[in-house]
Amino acid sequence: MSQSLLITDDLLLNFKRCRRRAFLDVYSDRSQADREKDFLLKLRQEHRLLQEAVLAEFDYQQPNALDKDWQARANQTKLFMQLGVERIYHGLLLQPEISGLGITCIGSPDLLIKQPGKSQFGDWLYVPINIKLGTRPKPEYQIVAAFQAQILAAIQGVLPPTAKLILRRRNTYQVNLEIWLSRMQEVLTECIAILQQENEPEVFISRQRCSLCHWHSHCYALAESTEHLSLIPGVTPSRYEYLQTIGVDSVESLATVSPETVAEVFGIEVASKLKLQARSLLENRAFLKGDSRNINIPTTSLEIYFDIEAEPNRNLDYLLGILLVNKETKTEEFYPFLAEKPEEEGLIWEQFLHFVSLYPDAPIFHYSEYEVDAVQRLAKLYRTSPKKIQPLLSRFVDLHEMTIETVTLPVRSYSLKSLAQWLGFQWRDRGVRGDQTVCWYDRWLKSGDRSLLEAILRYNEDDCRATYLLKNWLVEFLLEMKVK
Ligand code: SF4
Repeated sequence: MSQSLLITDDLLLNFKRCRRRAFLDVYSDRSQADREKDFLLKLRQEHRLLQEAVLAEFDYQQPNALDKDWQARANQTKLFMQLGVERIYHGLLLQPEISGLGITCIGSPDLLIKQPGKSQFGDWLYVPINIKLGTRPKPEYQIVAAFQAQILAAIQGVLPPTAKLILRRRNTYQVNLEIWLSRMQEVLTECIAILQQENEPEVFISRQRCSLCHWHSHCYALAESTEHLSLIPGVTPSRYEYLQTIGVDSVESLATVSPETVAEVFGIEVASKLKLQARSLLENRAFLKGDSRNINIPTTSLEIYFDIEAEPNRNLDYLLGILLVNKETKTEEFYPFLAEKPEEEGLIWEQFLHFVSLYPDAPIFHYSEYEVDAVQRLAKLYRTSPKKIQPLLSRFVDLHEMTIETVTLPVRSYSLKSLAQWLGFQWRDRGVRGDQTVCWYDRWLKSGDRSLLEAILRYNEDDCRATYLLKNWLVEFLLEMKVK
């Protein structure tokens, strides 16, 4: 058993997102972790800017002890509270040695705000406030707020009536402590048990959750070496749990299990999909789904491949990239409509509309729902007539939707990157992910370094070319299946 356990609000937040991550943060060698991703650094910077913008509206006091000297910071924070300071920024709440369990809890709310009420300090008490980059009050934010409120109760002798979150759009959300204190207690109890027993939670790769985690390479390598079922598209944590109970614990056993056994819980459609996916990986071959050989993929002499680069924080679509394929002249030309400044978004939108109007019969292939959503947003923002937009959108063909409806492929993800790599395509800049271009654009705006714009253009062009390659493969595969 560990001698003394330090539970911080960051640790609890990470535990709520992934138990394994909190465990690795405590027990693994941090030098084995991935370098912090640029996108995460960008998010941190945005968080800092949001904090500064919120704090600019208040006067506040701040403990001056070093971050790592948490005992001194906690003493200074408590002194401010005793003195009745109106607002304390970046204070530290410390609850040492809970009930002799050898556990110390630390909370660091962005702000502690004084308000009327009775506490051991006098006719006032403090309420914790956290400033968060999210647009909604995620459960992990509320768990952390309840955790800080509980430590605060031990320090000021009374539970604060609420805890608050200030979210990305500067809206304030009140956390209902009656609900969240008990939920937090459950999470905290589980977290303490796992950490005290040094019970390493099993790896489970989830694309959304793991992609920005600093343990990603470590966990992915482990999952690959054990051929973990979470690497199979469609295996969610709850499905995985059930598969374990019926003894399905490998790609091979999933590929050979009777669909009826799995269908009892998942339904026959999901069961058949999972089984086919496992077979595809095991045999390294593509399968046609159901009767999709007759699906119609438009094929014409002129085709457009379309991909957008966006900056979500600015709600900006700054690059509308087009690959124009002319099969008669056997040419492929890339046309990037690029807003070098955010104010040029309207201009590139007009240029894009003009360009696609020159080829009114060319289908427009893209690989996600995003392009359709973005075109609708841009049309609304720049008041483009629906008479123009409806015929344009009717030319759009989402190859992601088409691919997942028609085929099962031996891949671990149906991202464009994964599919195109399976087909042998390589992006010119290896190892770059879509969120990297967001960081590059941000850096270009700050530094004026044109090599960043050039890298974005290369990436976007390669995305269009990968979409083109996938479309050709899909057409040929369906044709082959028809002949069979
Ligand atoms: S990579 Fe995924 S499974 Fe591993 S610690 Fe991070 S979030 Fe958890």
